[in-house]
Amino acid sequence: MDFTNWLGKPYNSLNAYLKNTYGEKLYKIAVDAGLTCPNRDGKLGTRGCIFCSKGGSGDFAVKGKSVTEQIKAGVEKFDKKIGNKFIIYFQAFTNTYGDIEYLRRIWTEALSHKDVAGISIATRPDCLSDEVIGLLRELKIEFCSSSVKNIPVSETDSIDVAEGKFIWIELGLQTIHEKTAEYIRRGYPLAVYDDAVKKLDDIGIPYITHIILGLPFETKDMMLETIRYVNSKKPFGIKLQLLHVLEDTDLADEYRCGMFEVLDLESYISLVIECLENINPEVVIHRVTGDGPKKILIAPTWSGDKKKVLNTLHKRMKELGAYQGKFCKR
Ligand code: SF4
Repeated sequence: MDFTNWLGKPYNSLNAYLKNTYGEKLYKIAVDAGLTCPNRDGKLGTRGCIFCSKGGSGDFAVKGKSVTEQIKAGVEKFDKKIGNKFIIYFQAFTNTYGDIEYLRRIWTEALSHKDVAGISIATRPDCLSDEVIGLLRELKIEFCSSSVKNIPVSETDSIDVAEGKFIWIELGLQTIHEKTAEYIRRGYPLAVYDDAVKKLDDIGIPYITHIILGLPFETKDMMLETIRYVNSKKPFGIKLQLLHVLEDTDLADEYRCGMFEVLDLESYISLVIECLENINPEVVIHRVTGDGPKKILIAPTWSGDKKKVLNTLHKRMKELGAYQGKFCKR
């Protein structure tokens, strides 16, 4: 198996996709648009999903007064001489849950920035109203022309690089199992996810599905069922997130009472490998580890060493001859 297109890794990572599509690495700037979530503001609940931190799963977002200021602050962190391009990640809380004109303004602000290649909008599948879908369609027409430029990279080779900006939607599904969904207080049934995916497919907006591995009381088979189900929908991307127990969450209370155990490194690595083997090679893998803020991470503590987790994963996949899509029908 030749992994040249995947930059030598045995799976189709986001970095490989960006390099192959845009000719360079893009850097993510997480922003907090000051929105809330129906699981927080009382519409569905006030305590949020059982694992969600106070920052609405957006703890790395640059805080600031406006989205423009946050983008400016994020861009300034990088070396401008290199001419970096960025993905603006609307990460904290539910980023399609707000006044439609406000959403239009912040997404347009981000897409209009000269150094921004595209935006990624984290949301819940039950927060894609017809108005939001209409707005996404409009912005897609305005900003995302799909022309392709051929760039020479050596005397003999060239790559096709996409021009125009992109809009991605990130859907927090976590699991397909209704019992787990109730336990984590997700607040919507699987049919809502199916509906959201269809709406996004209809307007041609790529989506990334978030899945949590290691949710309490889920077996390996249940997690693989979630992977296969999501994979069958042909998403643009999948984010595999290790369950993190964070301070000030209800999950932390249950963990401290001994109600469940978290995964150890070895079990997680084996699980991720099986997941990757069941995902089509075309699907872009946006994450294979947890990425929680260390200062509020209670467990599993080994996940704080991201480099070690990734190195172990890559080494083990090489030893086993494992690769993304190994068990998928072509
Ligand atoms: S939907 Fe997202 S932001 Fe809202 S409570 Fe759940 S994890 Fe937190």
